[in-house]
Amino acid sequence: ACAGVVSEPRRYDPLLDEDVANRDRIENALFGALERNEFSLVYQPKVQLETGTIVGAEALLRWKNNELGNISPATFIPMAEENGLINIIGDWVLAAACAQVRVWRLQEVATVPISVNLAAPQLRNDSLVSKVTGIINESGSSPQDLKIELTETSLIQDIESSAERIEELRTLGVGIALDDFGTGYSSLSYLHRLPIDVLKIDKCFIDEISPDSGRGRLVKHIINMAHDMGYEVIAEGVESPYQLEVLREFGCDIVQGYVYSAPVAPNTLREMLVEQPFE
Ligand code: C2E
Ligand code: CA
Ligand code: CA
Ligand code: CA
Repeated sequence: ACAGVVSEPRRYDPLLDEDVANRDRIENALFGALERNEFSLVYQPKVQLETGTIVGAEALLRWKNNELGNISPATFIPMAEENGLINIIGDWVLAAACAQVRVWRLQEVATVPISVNLAAPQLRNDSLVSKVTGIINESGSSPQDLKIELTETSLIQDIESSAERIEELRTLGVGIALDDFGTGYSSLSYLHRLPIDVLKIDKCFIDEISPDSGRGRLVKHIINMAHDMGYEVIAEGVESPYQLEVLREFGCDIVQGYVYSAPVAPNTLREMLVEQPFE
């Protein structure tokens, strides 16, 4: 659901009765998933439009359970946010991503910063900054290896304390991206109050992009406005060469999407990085 620039936030879909039993099974399995080692990370390259170079990657969580099979993060992340599990799952994601960068460094692969998605309850946690510092130090990676993606909805809940916490992370050297831009409140009036580095335009805008459609013009203005504020712009969910062409015309900085690559296993990303031409 792609909202307008000034609109209601996306609401949680009410569940159908027949889904409730299944949901309970999933939630019960979720409680033991970390212990059973059922999580893994895949990585989607972020590609600089002008050069075609991979300049980063987003870590995306995968869960495979013996009985339930693969379960989408779109299903289990909201559950984990509600029952509080997101805090320990989120810690695991941060640690796994930092450990991965460390491995690539040891293998002398030219590494790129890894972006990790952070859920609202993680941002509300007082110990977030010291936790992130600890994870970076323990893994032997550096703050420049890590970036964090936050949604508007998680930020807006408590804008003052969010802004403070984000500022602390940035002081550490961790870059911050505003994720899913255009799907939440999207109030342009608070954008300038957020200490962020990157604005990620949600896939729903990219789906219908063309230079002379209303939505296309909107994307063009969002890009210009973001640049005015000093933010880098990433387009997510870019699937076609046509979308790529339009985004290039609009001056978008970085793209992520199937047109370049779906999220891949760590070794596949490693190969892509190794093959990358030197700048
Ligand atoms: P997101 O952060 O907006 O991530 C982008 C999603 O779009 C990912 O889905 C990605 O696989 C998918 N995608 C990327 N390019 C394309 C494309 O060209 N076409 C299409 N159709 N899809 C594309 P995924 O991996 O299923 O993740 C869904 C959502 O789950 C994420 O949305 C994010 O909100 C959440 N999520 C995933 N991993 C984590 C995590 O470690 N922590 C938290 N808190 N949330 C996570
Ligand atoms: Ca994201
Ligand atoms: Ca999105
Ligand atoms: Ca997201």
